[in-house]
Amino acid sequence: MYIGGRLVSTSSPQKVELPYDGSYVATVYRASGREVDAAVAAAKAAAPLMRESTLDERATILRKAYERSLAAREELALAVSSECGKPIKEARIEVDRAAQTLLVSSEEAHRLHGEVVPMDAAPAGKNRWAMTVREPVGVVAAITPFNFPLNLAMHKIGPAIAAGNTVVHKPASTTPLSALKMAAIFDACGLPQGALNVITGPGGTIGDMLVTHPDVAMITFTGSVEVGVRLRGLAGLKRVTLELGNNSAVILEEDADLDQAVPRCVAGAFTHSGQVCISVQRIFVHRRIYAEFLERFTDAVRRLKMGHPHDPETDISSLITVPEAERVESWIAEATAAGAQLVTGGARRRATIEPAVLAEVPPETRLARGEAFGPVVGVNAYDSLDEAIARVNASDYGLQAGIYTRDLEKAFYAARRVQVGGFLINEVPAYRLDHMPYGGVKLSGMGREGPKYAIEEMTEMKLIAWKVS
Ligand code: NAP
Repeated sequence: MYIGGRLVSTSSPQKVELPYDGSYVATVYRASGREVDAAVAAAKAAAPLMRESTLDERATILRKAYERSLAAREELALAVSSECGKPIKEARIEVDRAAQTLLVSSEEAHRLHGEVVPMDAAPAGKNRWAMTVREPVGVVAAITPFNFPLNLAMHKIGPAIAAGNTVVHKPASTTPLSALKMAAIFDACGLPQGALNVITGPGGTIGDMLVTHPDVAMITFTGSVEVGVRLRGLAGLKRVTLELGNNSAVILEEDADLDQAVPRCVAGAFTHSGQVCISVQRIFVHRRIYAEFLERFTDAVRRLKMGHPHDPETDISSLITVPEAERVESWIAEATAAGAQLVTGGARRRATIEPAVLAEVPPETRLARGEAFGPVVGVNAYDSLDEAIARVNASDYGLQAGIYTRDLEKAFYAARRVQVGGFLINEVPAYRLDHMPYGGVKLSGMGREGPKYAIEEMTEMKLIAWKVS
């Protein structure tokens, strides 16, 4: 753990293992209530210093962290690949994106400002001026999931520092390594001691303590719906942002450019073995192009290379745990028993599942309704755009969705009607740039990330008004 600028251990070690084969990677230590208290106390003690720091000082620290994380690219990529089992070529992309998130956070620190309020727009406002300023909330608890252990943490830590807050970060139990490496990087970049603390250990025990701690002002959580809803219930009047799950859908109209759509659907469905919150899980294809799409898509999926995550050629590696792979396997079995056709893949070896394509997945199955979070996608035919939109919306989730069509009328017709936080035209919903506003509706969460938007969530607007004498 990393508390108040010092590495801390406890008497409760916890092994980090390579998900692919269970081999030993590292040992970290489980926090108890004592370490949670110490981390929050360190963050609280550093809060006045961060609050008083200038925007330029914060921007400089973030800019240095951007540069140092790129300099440590291979070391960070290996940590990410080893802790979450992500293919190394994807882990390198994650490091580049995390650096980008820090760079944008640095730029946004320079742009943090309020506005002038035109008080004399009201009859009683004559000779009165006012402005708003944005003030840090204080101590932010950042809780992150296993699937993008580095970049999703930077989406919380970067904006929190830009806003002048201090942070207690709890990474997922399976993926604590890149978080600890980043804490050391921030330390070397001049971040005041205590401004960033990392506590490791099971969310089920230390998570509750962190979220209910009286000195924590805000909880920013990325993870499952189940845990997010629970945290919101515990948080009382604390500020909360929740980035939760999805079962992303893409529509392919009959005029879709399949040369573009096929490779993007493959990448969208199978990057990090589908363990991406905006992974393509449901593809709705106009019946006139359904057979051609299914054939071309399946051919491309069969060419994906399965293997060890550290092999630079690997496209598909393991899921995070064997039980998770068994769950995905059971969802595929349930869908085929209900009438879906297994077109390719689906075999499991330990935690790795061969990329699976199913055709015509019945809407009542978990594969159609839930979040698969695995290398499996359902391809379904439809007859009209309204039908496709209705089927996309027949979901409890609403993070991102997409459409492929050359007809802008149709594209914007769908864009206005699909219930999501982000809609992509001629792109799969798995597309994200790190400065985009990003977040969901329905069970996909509340609040937005992307440094500019996260800074808004992590600051309080204060009005300062004065009467001109
Ligand atoms: P998870 O099980 O909900 O865990 C997320 C984090 O919450 C982990 O750090 C976990 O710690 C912690 N946690 C668990 N129980 C807790 C509790 N009672 N109190 C406080 N913290 C607790 O999610 P995951 O399996 O790591 O990640 C997959 C999920 O994240 C998927 O649903 C995916 O869609 C979602 N996700 C969403 C986005 C987005 O931006 N919308 C991005 C990525 C992932 P432990 O590991 O110690 O249990």
